[in-house]
Amino acid sequence: MAIIITDECINCDACISECPNNAIYEPDQEWSYSDETALSGMIKTPGGDEMDADAENEPISDEFYFIVPD
Ligand code: SF4
Repeated sequence: MAIIITDECINCDACISECPNNAIYEPDQEWSYSDETALSGMIKTPGGDEMDADAENEPISDEFYFIVPD
């Protein structure tokens, strides 16, 4: 499974509906762990960080579609 979208992305929007984890976002879109998932409140990420699942996070890319790998 891909965890990065490269700068070859043409922003065609085809991948969002195909991602089984709802982990793909449009350029410049804020994201949260609770978006379209069962997560809420304080969670521990795969990397061991404690995070607020409901908090809005800065976009990973403002130019291309992006994946939130966690
Ligand atoms: S990464 Fe998604 S938006 Fe970008 S070209 Fe591929 S399918 Fe289209």
